[in-house]
Amino acid sequence: MSDAPVLLVTGGSRGIGAAVSRLAARQGWRVAVNYASNKVAADAVIEAITADGGEAIAVKGDVGNAADIALMFETVDHHFGRLDGLVNNAGIIDMAQRVDEMSGDRIERTMRVNVTGSILCAAEAVRRMSSKHGAKGGAIVNISSMAAIIGSPFQYVDYAASKAAIDTFTIGLAREVAAEGVRVNAIRPGIIDTDIHASGGLPDRARDMAPSIPMQRSGTAEEVADAVLYLLSPAASYVTGAVLNVSGGR
Ligand code: NAP
Repeated sequence: MSDAPVLLVTGGSRGIGAAVSRLAARQGWRVAVNYASNKVAADAVIEAITADGGEAIAVKGDVGNAADIALMFETVDHHFGRLDGLVNNAGIIDMAQRVDEMSGDRIERTMRVNVTGSILCAAEAVRRMSSKHGAKGGAIVNISSMAAIIGSPFQYVDYAASKAAIDTFTIGLAREVAAEGVRVNAIRPGIIDTDIHASGGLPDRARDMAPSIPMQRSGTAEEVADAVLYLLSPAASYVTGAVLNVSGGR
């Protein structure tokens, strides 16, 4: 049986999460690829990893649902018997709107998936990785956003606020578990070319925003994945509580 480290990537089936899952597998992690509903996309990631000689499983679950989160971690326990890393990547935006047009349901769902979901997943991971719980340590990477700094006016201020919460959560949790072998860091991607922009009703956003980005282009999911894998790796052994911008200067 393999004793390779195990990584859970929430929202690992498309976009940044899929790039993280594929790169992690190439770097020797066994990967649990979480997805919410698109099984075809998750299976495609598993197939690509397997074809490359890696090991991965798909795990369905909505991180906006506490029962789904518990079941997802139990599935990882059952299948792999260990957990060494978590990438809290699953995140949503809603349609571009002003705050005075937003419904309570929209705001609540954004916070539940992006904030509560990430915190609950981190709690499950700490229970499996911290020396306080008899485990050997591990690393958590939270996917924030440059929106946390910019505020995303007229588009997704609720989303921006949820990502600011992720930044603060990263700092606090990092300090809480720093002496227990668990490192906690975050990445703030800028404008990355994925499907997320279409879910906000602005499918061409990555291309349209390019001239406003100092590097004059959007980023790729693979460029974000490189930074995530660095933070998960022993190369980042003294890095915790850090929030790294991967944004082309935005
Ligand atoms: P994406 O292309 O829309 O992919 C989202 C992924 O998350 C999919 O695998 C999706 O699975 C999964 N997902 C969505 N809701 C979920 C839920 N409730 N529970 C579990 N999984 C869920 O998004 P992305 O652009 O790669 O974004 C990934 C992360 O980066 C997010 O946290 C986002 O906020 C952050 N980010 C992105 C950008 C950007 O420009 N793209 C910039 C800054 C930050 P299904 O296919 O099954 O729905």
